[in-house]
Amino acid sequence: MMKKVNIGILGVQGDVEEHVASIKSAFHEITIDGIVSVIKYPEEIDSINGLIIPGGESTSIGKLSNVSDFHSSIKKKITQGMPVLGTCAGLIFLSNQIVQNSSNTSQKLLGSLDIETERNAFGRQHESFQSEFPIPKFGLDKFTGVFIRAPRIRSIGSNVEILAKLNDEIVAVKQGNIIGTCFHPELSNTVIFHKYLIELVRETL
Ligand code: GLN
Repeated sequence: MMKKVNIGILGVQGDVEEHVASIKSAFHEITIDGIVSVIKYPEEIDSINGLIIPGGESTSIGKLSNVSDFHSSIKKKITQGMPVLGTCAGLIFLSNQIVQNSSNTSQKLLGSLDIETERNAFGRQHESFQSEFPIPKFGLDKFTGVFIRAPRIRSIGSNVEILAKLNDEIVAVKQGNIIGTCFHPELSNTVIFHKYLIELVRETL
């Protein structure tokens, strides 16, 4: 029998419940019987076959690595090919470089995704906004992205695919089993990113 899709939502901080709800809707739309679990301890990482790192506060997510072997367990599974979706602060946490300023020099990153990010880069007057842009890979002309103190992707490695751009800004990327978005797909009116993550997981089972 085929293994079940089991998506973990890193439950340390941030938009956890919204991602749980989005994954449930995505299972429903695809009509599969999957499992979604909120991950609070490193030993729970072993049982999942897909992971979401939610938005919230990347410095808090980064503190994980100081308190337990969470950091290395996640990194190991991602290196082994587990599909992962990092949104907003989750994207920052996945990145391998961050534009440094005096307040974030000790911020811990997973470094799995070959991009450089800049925190809170869309400027104060735009701390939160919605914008429409196409996502050609999903055949979508208009996706409404919700940006909340969003990071900017400053540069990407040659093996990183651009999934979406808002004007000239890269706002969603994919590198192998890793998907990252500057916006919050769990707050939009479609669960297309969650369905895509599930599809990637199904390919690994
Ligand atoms: N600005 C936050 C950070 O740096 C991210 C905001 C978000 O996830 N919505 O971590």
